[in-house]
Amino acid sequence: MNDQINDKSPIGFIGLGQMGAPMVRSLLRAGRKVHVYDINPQAVAEALSHGAIAANSIASLASQSDLIVTMLPSPSHVRAAFLDDDGILAHAAKGSLVVDCSTIDPETAKQLHQTSRLRGIDMADAPVSGGVLGAAAATLTLLVGAVPALFERIREVLAPVGSEFIRCGEPGAGQVVKIANNLLAAISMVATSEAMTLGVKLGADPVLLANAINHSTGRCWASEHYNPWPGVCPDAPASHDYVGGASTGILIKDLSLALGEAKGVTMPLFLGAIAQQVYQLSAAQGNGKKDFASVVNLYR
Ligand code: NAD
Repeated sequence: MNDQINDKSPIGFIGLGQMGAPMVRSLLRAGRKVHVYDINPQAVAEALSHGAIAANSIASLASQSDLIVTMLPSPSHVRAAFLDDDGILAHAAKGSLVVDCSTIDPETAKQLHQTSRLRGIDMADAPVSGGVLGAAAATLTLLVGAVPALFERIREVLAPVGSEFIRCGEPGAGQVVKIANNLLAAISMVATSEAMTLGVKLGADPVLLANAINHSTGRCWASEHYNPWPGVCPDAPASHDYVGGASTGILIKDLSLALGEAKGVTMPLFLGAIAQQVYQLSAAQGNGKKDFASVVNLYR
């Protein structure tokens, strides 16, 4: 582990989407120097307007940064960013630290950790929870798969983006915990959508209904902080035509990860499988790029 990497080290950040962009802003607010790369020029321009420095390729970003964070949609994107000829591992210096904050499968995370180690590069999985609101408020929970010493280093260098750092175990363990969490979050969003719509159709005021649920046994993150009914949580995507947030497509990917892992341990995921079908129907009806809370519109 490179002791030179600390809370002053410049950071290379790859993936400036719904989550990456606010995480970069938090790092910049904390006074960090951040080199950024994204295939979307608009996302890069937005980060530059907050003081980030553009890298014109992953290779150039990796050769300029001892600390690299990836925040990409799915396993294939992460594999390519790490393993391509012009990717991170071919260009990062020995002793660099790469933290993957994307949600991917544990096996890919373990393989990337092993390949990184063979090249003298430290790698950890640190998927995040808290959504776009948590990213904007810098209150994310980071679910870290890393040896203890590396965990402490990650907590130090990424402190500006999160308020909770949980060491889940060895490399890959952060992804295991994240996949289980998102299985529950995805199911509870569908359940909250059903409950909210039923109550409203039966005559309840949506704000009163949500408040009552949040003081009762149905309370959950979806009902309290990310309610799918427009106007209940003013900052949540549901109150902004479901723009921003976690896309339905991202949640379908997360449920695919959960179903794939469950198959590996011969375990049924009854509700996870149904939830995935519900989100796929929602995507087929045009909500693929909208926040996953738009699933409520299937019921309304
Ligand atoms: P997003 O689709 O909004 O952003 C992904 C970004 O990666 C985009 O800007 C895209 O242009 C960029 N990108 C794609 N391929 C690239 C490449 N080859 N090189 C560089 N940039 C590339 O996704 P998101 O919502 O920010 O999610 C990112 C990750 O975080 C996912 O794994 C997701 O599951 C996880 N996550 C999302 C949320 C959420 O609420 N959105 C919450 C927790 C975790």
